[in-house]
Formats: sequence, C-alpha cells, structure tokens
Amino acid sequence: MKIRDRLSLQFTLIFAVLLLVVLATIYLLTYKYRASDFYDRLRDRALITAQLFLAEDNLSEAKFRAVQQKYPQSLPGEVVRIYNDRNQAVFLKDTSQQWAPSVIARVRDQGELMYSEGPARTVGLYYKDNSGNFVVLASAVDTYGDAGMRQLLWSMLSVLILSIVVMYFLGSLFARIALFPISKVINDVKIIRSSSLDKRLAVKEGKDEINELATTFNNLLEHLEQSFDAQRSFVSNASHELRTPLTSIVGSIEVTLGVEREREEYKRVLADVLAEAENLTNLVNDLFDLSNSNIDVNDFHDLRLDELLWQVKDEWSHLIPGSRIGLHYNLPDDPARYTIPGNSHLLFVALGNILKNAVKFSGNDPVTCAMTVQDDKVIISIEDKGIGIKPEDIPHIFEPFYRGTNAQTYDGLGIGLSLAEKILRLHGAVIQVASEPGKGTTFSIVFPV
Ligand code: ADP
Repeated sequence: MKIRDRLSLQFTLIFAVLLLVVLATIYLLTYKYRASDFYDRLRDRALITAQLFLAEDNLSEAKFRAVQQKYPQSLPGEVVRIYNDRNQAVFLKDTSQQWAPSVIARVRDQGELMYSEGPARTVGLYYKDNSGNFVVLASAVDTYGDAGMRQLLWSMLSVLILSIVVMYFLGSLFARIALFPISKVINDVKIIRSSSLDKRLAVKEGKDEINELATTFNNLLEHLEQSFDAQRSFVSNASHELRTPLTSIVGSIEVTLGVEREREEYKRVLADVLAEAENLTNLVNDLFDLSNSNIDVNDFHDLRLDELLWQVKDEWSHLIPGSRIGLHYNLPDDPARYTIPGNSHLLFVALGNILKNAVKFSGNDPVTCAMTVQDDKVIISIEDKGIGIKPEDIPHIFEPFYRGTNAQTYDGLGIGLSLAEKILRLHGAVIQVASEPGKGTTFSIVFPV
C-alpha cells in the first residue's frame, strides 16, 4: 500500500474514532437527560394524583377523571394506581393495570422506585397520609422521547458516515499535497543513470526533511560520480601501462625479425623483451593485489607487528643492494599490545611498498623504521631523507597511478601507495604523511589494537 493511501486511511480512522466518541457522548447525555426528564414528569403525575385523592378522600373516580383531563400534561399510555396497605387498588377501581405485589412491596421498602419495562417507564412513590399509607404507581410510554432519540441516532449515523467519506477524500488530498515533494524527488531520481551521474536533485531554500533527503542523495551522487571517474581513469591508466611494454615488446620483435641478425643481437633483444615482460608481470601482480585486497575480515588471524616489520625490513634489505634500513623498537613487554588481527601477506605488501619508496626516493640514504606502542595504538613510522613530496602532490599520492611531479625520473607505476592505503584501511589503520621537498618524508601508520 502506498504511503499516501496509508496516511489518508490513518487520518480518516483517527477522525472517525474521535467523531464517534463525541457523537456517542452527545447521544448518551441526551438520552440521560430525556430519561430523567420523563421520570420527573412521571413522578409529578404520581404526586398530583396522590395529592388529589388523598387530600380529598371523597373525590369520586368520575371527578378524578375530570381533573386529570383538565391537567394539561397527560402522558402517552399513562396509567396511575394507588394501593393501600393490603396491596388493594383504591380510589381508582380500574383493574386493567395491576402491579405485582412484589413491585408494590419494593416501593414501600425503598420509598421511591423507578424502572423501565419494554417501552413503558414506571415511577412508584410511598405516600404517607393521615388517612393511611399508600403506594402510588404511575407508568407511561415516552413516545416522543423515544422517537426523538431514534431520529437523533439516525442523524448522527448519517453525519458520521458522510464525515468519514469527506474526511477520506480530504485526507488523501492532504497526503497528496504533503507527499508531492517526495513524488518529485522520485521522478527526478528515476532519470539518473550511471551515464548521467553529473545530474543533481533540486534543493530548495529551507531545512525540511525533503531538502535533507535531496542533499543526502546529492552527496551520494557526488561520491558515486567520483568513484566512477576514479574507476574509469584507473582502467584507462591500467590499459595504458599495459599497452606501453606490450607495444615495446611487439616493436622490438618485429624490427628484429625484419632482417637476419647476429646471434648476439638476438640475445640482446631477448634480454630487452624479458625485462619488459618482467615489468608487465610486476604490473599485473600489483593490479591483481589491488583488486584482490577486498578480503574478508573473517580470514584475519593474529599477527605480531614487530615480527612483520622485521620481515619486511629483511626482505627489502636483500632486494635493494646498498640499502641501509635501520630498525628501532620501543615496545612494552606484553606482545598482546602489538598483536593485531590481520592478513600477513597483504600487510607485508603494504609496508613493503612504503619502505621500498623510502629507499628508492632517497637514493639509498639511510632509512629509519620505528615502532612504538602508545595506549591502545601501535605506531610504525618509516622515515627517509630523500627528495620529499611537493605539498600539491600530497593529496593525490594515494590515488592509483598518481606519480609525484618530482618522481617522474624514478622507476615506478604509481600503484604502490594506493594499494598500501587500501590494505591498511581494511585493517582499520590510518596512514599519515609528513614531507618537505628536498629534506625527506615520514610515513606514519597507526594501528588500533
Ligand atoms: P611510485 O612509487 O611507483 O611512483 P607510489 O604509489 O608508490 O608510486 O607512490 C606515489 C607517489 O608518491 C610517488 O610517485 C612519489 O611522488 C610519492 N612518494 C611516495 N613515497 C615517497 C617517498 N618516500 N619520498 C618521496 N616521494 C614519495
């Protein structure tokens, strides 16, 4: 069910319940008022009859009828009886209406009695007089009152049904007006495709929820657009990087095969091809690592960061002849304080890339790796005294294929740091860089433990 229909239904339901309560209260109050008014009139009739007969004991029935006729407010179906101590009807000899002795006894007990039976209402009074004690009973049918109440009930039901119908239409109109901005947002969103991520939703003045939704959605679109652009440039950069060595390989082979050559020449060309093929392998491996670094955290196991850093240092000291990598630990006794859940292969790649850069961009000057524990954090810093990074390059160095303007003469593809950053992020670590061109660079990696 659409929100619009649900809102109008709920709106109508609340209104219907409220109206029902109000109408029912009015009906009940009116009913009570009418009933007590009728009993009052009935009591008056009983009292007048008693006073008339008992004040003037000798009044004949014919005379009484005459007086009663004159009395202006005779009630519909009215019957009045006076009973003596032996429950015998006196003064009025008509026997068409007799009250049971039990009713007469109850009047005597209670002094006054009121009850209704079918359409008739009855009032009984215990009347004490110098000529004896009598029970006066009067009953009548509240024809006008009952008809009035029936009419009131029907009018109220009609008003209720009519109001519910009107309220439903008003409610759905109201819901339509209230939800119109949402429908507009939905229509605007429907036309946005991956090819048109530059489109944005209109945001009006003011701070209502719809504007907030549109702003949030626009922010999401901004992120998506950036990420799509990054993917696009990643793919084009990757294909460019793959194409360059391949073109070079194909070119070298074509030129070599063009004419008969010396054995030494073939050897030289094959060595060139091998070097290019190795570059390609490295690049493909890096790309594979980059796409494969979306690992599941359930694959993590506990690993000691001091051992990992030592292995990384050891590996790169051997891989880069002439490198001078120093290692300094400032660790507490408890190894648990620098043990984290993680993937050792990926972390090895990440730290290795940062260390390799430090050695590469400092021309084999000494590089210092340090590891300290502060509260519940482990900080690994890798410091070099190399070429440094220009301030305008710093925000981009973690983007795939980005290479610093002063790094173009050094080997590299611009993938190492983006891969390292991604891996560290997966481990909940933060990587920070402080650098001054010409003086050196320090990368600090902060692991939460
Ligand atoms: P690559 O090293 O292949 O160029 P990276 O992704 O590893 O690619 O690094 C991106 C850029 O960051 C480098 O091109 C360089 O400009 C800068 N950079 C990274 N580490 C250092 C460092 N230790 N000293 C100076 N510049 C660095």
